[in-house]
Amino acid sequence: MLDERLVSNLHVHALRRSEAHADRAPHVLFQASTIAALLDGAYEGDLTFAELAEHGDFGLGTLNGLDGEMIALDGRFYRADVSGDVAEVPPSARTPFAVVVPFEATVDVATTELLDAAPVGAVRFDGSFEFVRARSVPRQDPPYRPLAEVAAEQHVFSFKDVRGTLVGFRFPDYASGVEVPGYHLHFITEDRRRGGHVLDYRARSGRLRIDTSSELHVELPPGVELSGEHVDEEELQRIEG
Ligand SMILES: [Zn+2]
Repeated sequence: MLDERLVSNLHVHALRRSEAHADRAPHVLFQASTIAALLDGAYEGDLTFAELAEHGDFGLGTLNGLDGEMIALDGRFYRADVSGDVAEVPPSARTPFAVVVPFEATVDVATTELLDAAPVGAVRFDGSFEFVRARSVPRQDPPYRPLAEVAAEQHVFSFKDVRGTLVGFRFPDYASGVEVPGYHLHFITEDRRRGGHVLDYRARSGRLRIDTSSELHVELPPGVELSGEHVDEEELQRIEG
């Protein structure tokens, strides 16, 4: 059904702030900063959620101060706090790391599993779940510590017999440093009241939509570079669970 070659076909394009304004096109992923910068403790960005919304209506990330897990769905931006409670993010709030896309499905199937050989791109799964195990992180104050230390203080919670949506992306291994390789998923319940960063789940039924993408535009804050960055795989495993 899916062409395996698509998995390794992702063009990463770095933008500075001045070039990034209203850079929005179908199937083009837009990202604020890099996962490597976030792992290093760069928890304050200058991009507002109003600006982020110009680049897409679907995605994930976090807020300044690493203040919870962000979920963007159907043009609304939500934050799951450290206990998994969800509220909408004000447009004036800012993000140190986020990925969004104007979501348009290129794959649309009924399934209970995400695809092992899914193409690179945005992944939306609306379904009924036996459980979803998720985490969130407590808001940090400067001086900021690396994410691996903060992750030790994460709160983990399980949602049982729940309906909701997995929101996220699948990136190839060679995107590590820029992005989380493999699946990176956040969850929000159907009533939009609970959510978090997904550690594990089991679905009973659902609808999987994928927006296949071969373009990732990364807006780099001052001092953050794309080249030469490499994320320690073990460190990422600890953090991503
Ligand atoms: Zn996450």
